Amino acid sequence: MTIFERVPEPKAIGAGIVLQPSGMSVLAALGLLPPVVARGAVLRELYAETSKRRPVLKLAYSDVAGDLYGLGLHRGVLFQTLFEAVKASPAITLKCAVGIEDLTRARDGRNLVVETDSRKEHGPFDLVVVADGARSRLRRR
Ligand SMILES: Cc1cc2nc3c(=O)[nH]c(=O)nc-3n(C[C@H](O)[C@H](O)[C@H](O)COP(=O)(O)OP(=O)(O)OC[C@H]3O[C@@H](n4cnc5c(N)ncnc54)[C@H](O)[C@@H]3O)c2cc1C
Repeated sequence: MTIFERVPEPKAIGAGIVLQPSGMSVLAALGLLPPVVARGAVLRELYAETSKRRPVLKLAYSDVAGDLYGLGLHRGVLFQTLFEAVKASPAITLKCAVGIEDLTRARDGRNLVVETDSRKEHGPFDLVVVADGARSRLRRR
């Protein structure tokens, strides 16, 4: 597997994040949940109120299932755990400072990804996962 990341030196952006049970199940499947849980704060309920103390949100995880919880985290914990796992995996090649702006096909029908500006092609790949965020320019392709 090859990951193309346009940022030269990836790092955590932002401060806090609440990891929900769905995200935790993905980390568990990757074998990465224990070190993240160890550095997070377990949340049994989400509660918000106005300045006049009127409740506007009250969601208890136990209303859904007794063993569910949220996890309050510094974003750096999540980033560092995932990034270290990527770097440690012999199955993953990480190419930073490579922005991808287009997709095309090789002669054998497999996928090529095309670099921004230089138009350099990489591949062929059997499968391309487009995971370039909410402002993706590739998703339509
Ligand atoms: C203020 C704020 C608070 C939030 N709080 C929470 C929270 O508490 N809990 C929660 O679950 N979610 C929260 N979110 C949402 C969460 O951050 C996003 O849903 C999540 O980051 C989306 O992940 P992603 O991998 O789809 O995209 P991104 O995290 O945006 O990752 C996309 C990656 O692709 C790279 N990239 C982009 N374009 C290219 C390109 N052309 N070529 C190569 N690489 C490219 C980017 O550099 C980036 O590394 C919050 C978001 C914001 C803004």
